[in-house]
Amino acid sequence: MCGIIGYIGKNKAATVLLDGLERLEYRGYDSAGMAVYDGEKINLAKAAGRLNVLYNLTRGGETLPGGLGIGHTRWATHGGPNTDNAHPHVNRDRSIAVVMNGIIENYLPLRKRLIARGYEFVSETDTEVLPHLLDHYYSGDPRKAIIRMLHRIEGSFALGIIFKDHPDTLYAVRKNCPLIVGIGEGENFIASDVTAILRHTRKVVYVDNMEIAEIRTDRVDYYSMDEEVLEKTPTTVDWDVSAAEKGGYEHFMLKEMMEQPKVVRDTLSPRLQNGRIVIEELKMTEEELAAVNKVFIVACGSAYHTGVVAKYIFENLARMPVEVDLASEFRYRDPLLKHDDLVVVISQSGETADTLEALKMAKEVGCKILAIVNVVGSSIAREADFVMYTWAGPEIAVATTKAYSAQLIALYLLAMKFAGARGFLHGRKYKAMIDEMTKLPEQIEMLLNNREEIQRIASRYIAARDVFFIGRGIDYAISLEGSLKLKEISYIHSEAYAAGELKHGTISLVEEGTLFAAVATQPALKDKMLSNIKEVKARGAVVLAVTTMGSSEIENAADYTVTLPETNPLFADSLAIIPLQMLAYYIAVGRGCDVDKPRNLAKSVTVE
Ligand code: GLU
Repeated sequence: MCGIIGYIGKNKAATVLLDGLERLEYRGYDSAGMAVYDGEKINLAKAAGRLNVLYNLTRGGETLPGGLGIGHTRWATHGGPNTDNAHPHVNRDRSIAVVMNGIIENYLPLRKRLIARGYEFVSETDTEVLPHLLDHYYSGDPRKAIIRMLHRIEGSFALGIIFKDHPDTLYAVRKNCPLIVGIGEGENFIASDVTAILRHTRKVVYVDNMEIAEIRTDRVDYYSMDEEVLEKTPTTVDWDVSAAEKGGYEHFMLKEMMEQPKVVRDTLSPRLQNGRIVIEELKMTEEELAAVNKVFIVACGSAYHTGVVAKYIFENLARMPVEVDLASEFRYRDPLLKHDDLVVVISQSGETADTLEALKMAKEVGCKILAIVNVVGSSIAREADFVMYTWAGPEIAVATTKAYSAQLIALYLLAMKFAGARGFLHGRKYKAMIDEMTKLPEQIEMLLNNREEIQRIASRYIAARDVFFIGRGIDYAISLEGSLKLKEISYIHSEAYAAGELKHGTISLVEEGTLFAAVATQPALKDKMLSNIKEVKARGAVVLAVTTMGSSEIENAADYTVTLPETNPLFADSLAIIPLQMLAYYIAVGRGCDVDKPRNLAKSVTVE
């Protein structure tokens, strides 16, 4: 989590850092800080709270002159979110400053030893051991000190470091946390992700684990841990700068919800050629696809929910076994993986720590790995055998919407590809499904444009204490996501339940006026859903049904109904999720919540 940024060049570092931090704030936002070298010494400014506190404290960067600096926006793991714990951290004479994303796992013994040597600590963070360790190892050569420090520390991290005695260089290194170098004209950058520096440059270098980058105004050198020089080639990022701006919307989340028709289209169209699904990235022949024994889908959070949807679709269409796992569970449960299994990992950021580790574990067994990720060049993208990018562009709101929708599309394509290769999908059915998939962007747009009704319903439930989401089959999978959306941004307790399970527990929680969102898009299960709706209604619940045309009985039984346009039932959840996202959004806005940056959360979860 957290965002780091560093700058060296002709401009005012503090201004560039603040601007970059604003764009990184979605990664962590409990405190922020900067260290800038002013030609003589390193000056420091740190503040608890949101970035604007730091902005005001430094008068927009004015109080920190100089062209070399590092900045940080924190998502606390060790020590509370206060000013002392905010980064950068420095050594005793403030000649070395460090910002870190990640966790130093062995910081306690290191801290003890440093204290025994007379070092004084002012924070409770794991990070503070780093400037003191560097101080201990430093005897004129920063690179050597960094390498010695790297030999001592354990964990996952990305670091930006400056040395007062070497003001012409910004140092950076990473291990399992994201870090890029941005190449400018007479200025260079480091950042946790490209959105922070997009307005300055599109030329980036992806730093690999344990490579030390030495960044100067006019050149960047990379070294291995043995101090060998490494050759790295910059990549050009084609994300649009405006994609990372709010563009007139009140929140990034609303903007990103509204972008869903486009991202679904962008993810879909390059993979449809002459009426056929072509997944060029998946370099497997039809025979190889048919020979896959089993598919494991491994992910966290909303990406995991897309996996649950995909399991139903794969099993239905391609008639093959699929296991869906939370990456944090998969890693430690010793799964029965075989080399002819395909492991599909899904992650928006491509940096999710548990997913990345799960990928590495499966790779060791010899399984082929397909990654579905949004961020080009991210760690997961680089580690996987094949990468299917979701062309969703930068997603800034912490609660995912457009990346989720793009992931669903990628999984539909994949399931259909497998079904074709295994001989279960061809001819008219294949063509009809492709036609229906092609209509999804337009249908999503229609739902987004008719949002007044959901807005009205949401306004009545801003004081709700509990909200339940129920569904069967694929609709259960979408309920999981609807419920997560609501609780993460509105802080209302919410649960998703397979509707058939209600009687085995949750129904005891129904009280007069409890809101139930009932998703009923699957024709074969509508009657069952109708009974479940009646059961909760009989106990006082208020029901919002999300269903398809021709469901008059459900409509009659429910208090409110959102009717979805007609599509193949296997794709219905690309539509059903839209009103659920909007319900969560408008309830959270009505409650005055910080929709884009919900408390305690961060966008890319790079710690376990
Ligand atoms: N572990 C560090 C801390 O708590 C860094 C956390 C972060 O990545 O923001 O300060």
